[in-house]
Amino acid sequence: MPKLNIAIVPVTPFEQNCTLMWDEDTKRGVIVDPGGDTDRIREAVNEIGMDVTAVLLTHGHLDHVGGAMEIKADYDVQIIGPHIDDKPLCEAVETVAKQYNMPGTFKNVMPDQWLEEGDTVDIAGFEFEVLHCPGHAPGHVVFFSDELNFAHVGDVLFSGSIGRTDLPGGNHDDLIRSIKTKLLPLGDEVTFLCGHGQGGTFGEERQHNPFLKA
Ligand SMILES: [Zn+2]
Ligand SMILES: [Zn+2]
Repeated sequence: MPKLNIAIVPVTPFEQNCTLMWDEDTKRGVIVDPGGDTDRIREAVNEIGMDVTAVLLTHGHLDHVGGAMEIKADYDVQIIGPHIDDKPLCEAVETVAKQYNMPGTFKNVMPDQWLEEGDTVDIAGFEFEVLHCPGHAPGHVVFFSDELNFAHVGDVLFSGSIGRTDLPGGNHDDLIRSIKTKLLPLGDEVTFLCGHGQGGTFGEERQHNPFLKA
């Protein structure tokens, strides 16, 4: 029986949760959202002795994708995701970084494979379903394992909060719809990790998240 291990490496000034997920025995695993601080990510991979099989991206914001091309080259793996609706964001990383006055570190990303609703991805030997959840970003995807009752939701949902919708391509109604029609129906017992801060359970958010009332 494979066991999913998880480690979070906080990266970039945005304290984004770059997430390493690997199988205990084989050490095979993926890196989700390597936004930057790639030296820290490599250090964590070395410590674990992880055999990196892919880079997965939840959406195209610079703090999630800015280091992806470098990590891809380091481990000679493919970049999988997000949904193609985030192509403009993936191609604007360097421009946005300049606007934030952080040139140099964040690089535009060209994924090897775009993801769509209903696709599946392999994470450490587990099959994760891809859910297209626009709102925070048009091409945002969520990874969900029915077997593990676990989801990586990126910046769609946070503990007690939701992703911001004031950035280009953001839409508040879309985001609420994504959460209410795609995430919450997966069940109260589903635990989740997210792009910033700690995760939680869908049940806790359904009952107490102020943005999901009514
Ligand atoms: Zn974001
Ligand atoms: Zn973020």
